[in-house]
Amino acid sequence: MSARSNWCNTHRGPTERAIAVAVIEVNSGPGGTVWSCPDCVARYGIVPLDEQSPDHPASRIQYRTPGSPRDADGASGGR
Ligand SMILES: [Zn+2]
Repeated sequence: MSARSNWCNTHRGPTERAIAVAVIEVNSGPGGTVWSCPDCVARYGIVPLDEQSPDHPASRIQYRTPGSPRDADGASGGR
């Protein structure tokens, strides 16, 4: 699909391996992928696009919330 990037958008520097963490949608535009290096993913607890739940909007970076078994987006409870 999209070309891999060698740029980490999180610490704004080059990286050897970039992980897609979000997709920015632009009206009638190509949009853009937000990349993060493994370091930043681990440091900030970012959930890679691959592991994000389908319910989560791809345009927003999802962070792991320490201490909570599932996403703590207030989406707990029955539905
Ligand atoms: Zn980084």
